[in-house]
Amino acid sequence: MARIIPPRTRKVRVLATLGPASSTPEMVAKLFAAGADAFRINMSHGDQESKRPLIAAIRAIERDYGRPTTILADLQGPKLRVGRFADGAVMLETGERFVLDRDPAPGTSSRVELPHREIFEGIEPHARLLLDDGKLVLRVEEAGGERIVTRVEVGGRLSNSKGLNVPDVVLPLAAMTEKDQSDLAFACEAGVDWVALSFVQRPEDLAEARRLIAGRAALLAKIEKPAAVQRLDEILEACDAVMVARGDLGVELPPQAVPPLQKRIVESARRQGKPVVVATQMLESMITSPSPTRAEVSDVATAVYDGADAIMLSAESAAGDWPVESVAMMNSIADAVERDPAHGDRVHFTVTKPDPTTADALAEAAKSIAITVSARAIICFTMSGSTARRVARERPSVPLMVLTPKLETARRLGLLWGVHAVHTRDVENFEEMVAKAKRMALRHAVAAAGDRIIVMAGVPFGVPGSTNVLHVVRLTGDELKGYED
Ligand code: PGA
Ligand code: MN
Repeated sequence: MARIIPPRTRKVRVLATLGPASSTPEMVAKLFAAGADAFRINMSHGDQESKRPLIAAIRAIERDYGRPTTILADLQGPKLRVGRFADGAVMLETGERFVLDRDPAPGTSSRVELPHREIFEGIEPHARLLLDDGKLVLRVEEAGGERIVTRVEVGGRLSNSKGLNVPDVVLPLAAMTEKDQSDLAFACEAGVDWVALSFVQRPEDLAEARRLIAGRAALLAKIEKPAAVQRLDEILEACDAVMVARGDLGVELPPQAVPPLQKRIVESARRQGKPVVVATQMLESMITSPSPTRAEVSDVATAVYDGADAIMLSAESAAGDWPVESVAMMNSIADAVERDPAHGDRVHFTVTKPDPTTADALAEAAKSIAITVSARAIICFTMSGSTARRVARERPSVPLMVLTPKLETARRLGLLWGVHAVHTRDVENFEEMVAKAKRMALRHAVAAAGDRIIVMAGVPFGVPGSTNVLHVVRLTGDELKGYED
């Protein structure tokens, strides 16, 4: 049997992107030990087969530690990228000419391939082309046919396959490319828990992905286009989680527009009870430095104080020089914020009004009962995970342990604020429910002898449906006697 480790007391989840700097089973295990709760596999880089060992390494942690692991496959979406260079990278000098064309030959400092026909069709003179998250700026001088001639307004280093944004022109792009469809099929077949869709613009964009996923994974919408912000509430209805994808969002819009939007997206998602991930450049300087800037630390802290479900590392853990240190730093910042006695009040700055359902009434009650009777944990039995989502939405002050007979549910819950999911056999009656909740609370060390716990479930047992039981019980400490599992 896998050894049981106590749950992380931290509520916010750390989502670490895997890549060349973190692709061995040893590195994945180190990131987990340093604090990564969930892993992002970025389908924008590398081929499908290179993802299989990563997925296997993440699932090995599940076996070794007896804790469900969470895998998010991030589809590239209609992300525009430049082609590749003969030497992997070039320097673009400000003031020089640079040409984008349809020639797949390796690029130089005067030209590179742009493998997107739609840009050549839609681009106009004077439009800006922003490269590498807006670090480099090109201005179109001549467009038409198979060449776009530009002037470098802001130069710098440009390496293989860097991203390209065209904020000044609306391009005729589909929500999912052929590559996305193929990557989605691969990811679902490989058993990932979440699929992320990039550059979502409309709620309808999610429908095709939903159909292709066919219930095999949950669906996260990346908010990185101004159009998505316009229809945020409808997009939230149509997906299972969102990401504040600040990299592209801060290129498509001025960077100063991002912080107010981050607050708004986090708040709207929390109101709807959909997990929200804050992503990109959180500890950017740690790609090359073993310690972050104070501003980065403050940025991570802000997302934690805002009550985001998860905070994400991109290149820091995927391609930087300090992947383990980045995860450890994010973990430490989150711990420090959550130890701040003011954290609870700041998180409750977002007021979540319950829906008129029994599940919401009990979720809200559980949060306040925990405070009134000083209960140490909420133990929640769930099949689909929906009750767990409603309780997590309340941001209770005590650990939330979720017991589920469905492994997929336990894995998907890994993106949720404060949830410690355990995959376990279902219970059949009330006595079993109480006994099991007590045993699991003790075994996973979320509560100890003499503590009160709150147990939530739906009766009749074994029938998927909404939670309708809330039971408060005290542990004697003897509950584990005579039990092996
Ligand atoms: P990406 O998405 O890393 O796939 O570009 C996140 C973002 O744009 O912030
Ligand atoms: Mn992006």
